[in-house]
Amino acid sequence: MLIVAAFSFFAAAQETQIKWFGHAAFTITTPKGKVLLIDPWLSNPMNADVKAGKDPLLAVPKVDYILLTHGHRDHVGEAVEIAKRTGAILIANPEIAGNLVKLVDFPAKQAQTDAIMGIGGEIQIADGEVTVAMTPAVHTSSVFNPKAGPNEPERAYGGSPAGFVIIVKNGPTIYHTGDTAYFSDMALIGEQYQIDVALINIGGHTAMEPKMAAKAAKAVRTKLAIPQHFATDPGMTQDSAVFAAELKLLKIPFYEMKPGQTIIYRGRLLVKK
Ligand SMILES: [Zn+2]
Repeated sequence: MLIVAAFSFFAAAQETQIKWFGHAAFTITTPKGKVLLIDPWLSNPMNADVKAGKDPLLAVPKVDYILLTHGHRDHVGEAVEIAKRTGAILIANPEIAGNLVKLVDFPAKQAQTDAIMGIGGEIQIADGEVTVAMTPAVHTSSVFNPKAGPNEPERAYGGSPAGFVIIVKNGPTIYHTGDTAYFSDMALIGEQYQIDVALINIGGHTAMEPKMAAKAAKAVRTKLAIPQHFATDPGMTQDSAVFAAELKLLKIPFYEMKPGQTIIYRGRLLVKK
């Protein structure tokens, strides 16, 4: 009995939670309770809290790291406000970091750490509990400049767009594609990392169409494909049907989260949807 009790305590302590806020926004809560927030446009119209008329920022009282795949407004979202409230450290490329500080008052100390990184690099965060790798993405990246004068561009340089592979110790390895087209070098991401779950942009129009998104799932050899960045506005892919059907042909497990939903991993196993 003691062994069973000890085992279930150990198991509970090893849970990783992944929550979707609609669009490209997710939190990952590690077994030790560290919170990573990716592309925090929490005020997006798909967010369940927004639909319910609640302040969406109340859902993230504790954030340790904010990860930005690129500088577009639907990804930076409320990063500045959340950074000010929580003290979260920014993980992004140096161009985004520099311009967010200069143009929209992102707290400088939180944007000038060794968590600023480049594509191809890996960093250790959360006292070594998490490794973050920045991966390529084929897209654009710019930082909106609300201070632009009449003859200045309102989009400042945002460096190269990216995706992230997030390796959680005693937890899953998670791939967030960011906004990207399909590219065949995604296979290298699948070779390098053992992806348990891929959060894949299927929005089309400005990035990956659903059929190509299924190819991306195959290329990175994910054990589970979850769609994101769709149905936020009328110009995008409106549902996951085509993506799901293509994945079925490719025999890749598919799961669609609902905005506001949390899934739980115990170790590298998905235990609750
Ligand atoms: Zn986007």
